Amino acid sequence: METYFIETWGCQMNVLDSQRLEGLLQRHGLSRVERAEDADVAVLNTCSVREKAVGKVLSRLGELHLARLAGGKPAAVGLCGCVAEQEGARLLARSPALSFVLGPGRIAQLPAALDAVAAGRRVSVTGFGPVRDYEAHLIARGSGARQYVTVIEGCNQHCTFCVVPYTRGRESSRPLPEIVREVEAVAAAGGKEITLLGQTVNAYRCPASGADFGDLLQAVGATGAAWRIQFVTSHPKFFTDNMIEKLARTPGLGTYLHLPVQAGSDAVLKRMHRGYTREEYLGLVARIRSAMPEVTLSTDVIVGFPGETEADFLETLALVGSVRFGQLYGFAYSPRPRTPALHYPGQVSRSEAGERLQRVFEAQSPVQLELNQGLIGRSVEVLLDGPAKRGSEAWQGRGPDNRVVNVQGWSGIACGQVAEVVITGATAHSLLSEVGPAALPAA
Ligand code: SF4
Repeated sequence: METYFIETWGCQMNVLDSQRLEGLLQRHGLSRVERAEDADVAVLNTCSVREKAVGKVLSRLGELHLARLAGGKPAAVGLCGCVAEQEGARLLARSPALSFVLGPGRIAQLPAALDAVAAGRRVSVTGFGPVRDYEAHLIARGSGARQYVTVIEGCNQHCTFCVVPYTRGRESSRPLPEIVREVEAVAAAGGKEITLLGQTVNAYRCPASGADFGDLLQAVGATGAAWRIQFVTSHPKFFTDNMIEKLARTPGLGTYLHLPVQAGSDAVLKRMHRGYTREEYLGLVARIRSAMPEVTLSTDVIVGFPGETEADFLETLALVGSVRFGQLYGFAYSPRPRTPALHYPGQVSRSEAGERLQRVFEAQSPVQLELNQGLIGRSVEVLLDGPAKRGSEAWQGRGPDNRVVNVQGWSGIACGQVAEVVITGATAHSLLSEVGPAALPAA
């Protein structure tokens, strides 16, 4: 086997896992190709957060099987990520295209899986060992300015709609000094925006010292290594005043915070097993805004959760209206295998959930527009990602508050560069800007 191809579905966690898989494939002597049909080994790094995940995986495996019959490649196909953990050996038995299955807790066993495949065996390795392997030096990060560093894996919360505790296992935090060293190394290699990752990132506890997430933020911020440090995903239940204070005081942090609320009704929050009430969430928002008046908050909302009445939904709508989030990611409830909510009474029809979702977006959109328009005339720094559209002269990037900013007016800008711009216009979903008087050179 000489070549590999990786296809990544889903969240930032999977992007980083693909970089880990890629590092292991390269150490095994394989080099990357851009199409599965040209690869000796194709790896599908899958996500099971949305509905019909298994069907989508089977359909892709079918395509790869046909490609193999027609052209001989990919000779081996591996399944990784959350669908691998969820389905394991079942999918291996079901799909002739599949050569190996590796759960997210078994990434380090990729070389052994490749050896087994080379010896003519098909293998499935899932589950979570007592110690998680995390070989930071083997991650194939590429040269991107946006980089991820895992701080805690797994989740102990068991929200009743969520499959993650089953596919990612129990919480396991990495030692704080190891994370700080990795952040420094990633920044030294060109990473400008570093996102600390965890399913419940602020539940972090250093296994050696007991340091909490506030201590970690302080230590990472003190390195001064990156242009910006972000983190996802925070759980409202784990935010302490100490964390808020450290977040507010640490340079490079404190302008953007994703704080999923999921619902505005106490009855729904309780059935979701979220661990906080509406009042506690609103109190937390008030404490965060008091410490960080400039912070942009974003959130996740699920509508149509089983048993959600119109009155429950109106409470969510009212909460969205009162908090005035800078960004909102809305979803219609999607039943997931193995989760308790799958069997809850009062399932809301798809059409009703879809209609409620539309109402959430209709309430949120004018708020976002107003907040964005309030930024016109301000100077901000933007990390540039690339041309706004194919063939366009405008560039697109994100500011420190994670808003999308389209930049026009200077041909000297480049991907991965931080530019200082002046906001000149706004829509509900993005800002328009021109390069300011003091465009920054590449840092
Ligand atoms: S805290 Fe997040 S990852 Fe954990 S169960 Fe709840 S929604 Fe899923």
